[in-house]
Amino acid sequence: MSAQDPTSDVPPGRTVDPMEPSRIEVLDGRHATVGEFGVERVLPRRELRTVGAWCFADLMGPGEVTTEHGLDIGPHPHIGLQTVTWLIDGEVLHRDSLGSEQIIRPGQLNLMTAGRGVSHSEEATGRYAGPLHGVQLWVAQPDATRHGEPAFEHHAELPRVEIGSAEATILVGVFNGAASPARRDTDHVGIDLSLRSGRTTVPLDPSFEHALIPTIGTLIVDDRPIRPGQLGYLGVGRDELDIEVDGPARLLLIGGALFEHQPVMWWNYVARNRKEIVAAHESWLADDGRFGHTSSPLDRVVIDSPPW
Ligand code: MN
Repeated sequence: MSAQDPTSDVPPGRTVDPMEPSRIEVLDGRHATVGEFGVERVLPRRELRTVGAWCFADLMGPGEVTTEHGLDIGPHPHIGLQTVTWLIDGEVLHRDSLGSEQIIRPGQLNLMTAGRGVSHSEEATGRYAGPLHGVQLWVAQPDATRHGEPAFEHHAELPRVEIGSAEATILVGVFNGAASPARRDTDHVGIDLSLRSGRTTVPLDPSFEHALIPTIGTLIVDDRPIRPGQLGYLGVGRDELDIEVDGPARLLLIGGALFEHQPVMWWNYVARNRKEIVAAHESWLADDGRFGHTSSPLDRVVIDSPPW
């Protein structure tokens, strides 16, 4: 995924208090377009920049793709973040400047670590046609690794645990005694929950802040409905969460220790200040090698420099 709309950087102004966990805060996402595909961007929001180290979340679709046209996001750069790609339906081909070429399917995880710089594309597979539905999230890297080497992992199998009548798949981190094999540079967690009708009680780490991202169906939390296209922010201090649904539903639960910094984000870069972002973008525009080369039939994505 690529935050191709440079105005996606909402100004800082966190107004949601992580220490006020008494009631869920429901935030509306906003519609955006990446490649040719419509998304609902639920993080960052003006009121909420990060949930743990999670700093970006786009719901992709549901929409239809053809064998030749999918997300159609040409090579573009990243720094200072990990991309977490998770599909509910469909297939996407990932290519990157490390030479990776990986088709991802539902239930699998693509995890790309940008470090000091990487580029990638997200393409049609050449053979899959049908619905495409999923989520792409970014995790801000801590100072300890954000200037490090880029990397890519594909996990075809992830641990699953039963929680009452729900099934949890652990994308990253530890949940209910099971640990994902995915790389983790900060103390954070991401799980997919498939719910059946009724109430599910989900155990949480009270030292983390958490948020819910519904992907299918309407969830009821603290007597409030939360729907796809919204994010439910839970703050810190909860040791469990009751979720009610009146039919099959799915969501991502993300959380983590409060992030060490408020990251500065512009386009596809996560940094600590504007100078770092300008330097990265100059490298991308000059194609000076920092971001390597991604072999792709799609054109490199180029946008103007930031206005400052
Ligand atoms: Mn991307």
